[in-house]
Amino acid sequence: MLKRRVGLYPGTFDPVTLGHLDIITRAVKLVDDLVIGVATNPSKSPLFSLEERIGMVKHETAPLAGDGRATITVQTFDTLLIKYAEQIGASVIVRGLRAVSDFEYEFQMVAMNQRLNTEIETVFLMASDRYQFISSRFVKEIGALGGDVSHFVSKRVAARLNERFAERAKGR
Ligand code: ADP
Repeated sequence: MLKRRVGLYPGTFDPVTLGHLDIITRAVKLVDDLVIGVATNPSKSPLFSLEERIGMVKHETAPLAGDGRATITVQTFDTLLIKYAEQIGASVIVRGLRAVSDFEYEFQMVAMNQRLNTEIETVFLMASDRYQFISSRFVKEIGALGGDVSHFVSKRVAARLNERFAERAKGR
């Protein structure tokens, strides 16, 4: 039997956006099993807790699996990315490319990961032009200033963002 091809899509997902979901929709066509690795990333002081981020990713990605596409599992990791990829038996790391600004960082990361493990390849996918410009960071900035985030995230995630900013405004 052929070995199943496992892909790893890592990120902070604070929160998951339509850009992430577009990349996941593409990635499930390329591998048999897609693991979405939600990084704890305390250094980025996430707006949502790890559990909240995982919960949102699980909910949003549930409809994207199955029917000849990959299985999707959502897990957390706080180790070195390449070690985590080895642990779960991934042969492919999936990253999304937005603007040229992502390129430098991604280029360095791939070069380093190639040194650490020669068997694991990184592939870059581009989101549809409608979603390419979306980043969790700007979504949070827009939300914090009372802007409408419904163009960038699902209705459910938009509601969670609004809740979170309302709590913050009340000083909770
Ligand atoms: P990280 O902390 O790794 O930047 P993110 O959650 O911001 O985590 O992003 C995870 C991955 O998804 C990264 O490869 C990022 O470039 C990609 N990504 C995020 N938003 C988009 C988008 N709108 N279009 C394409 N790729 C995206």
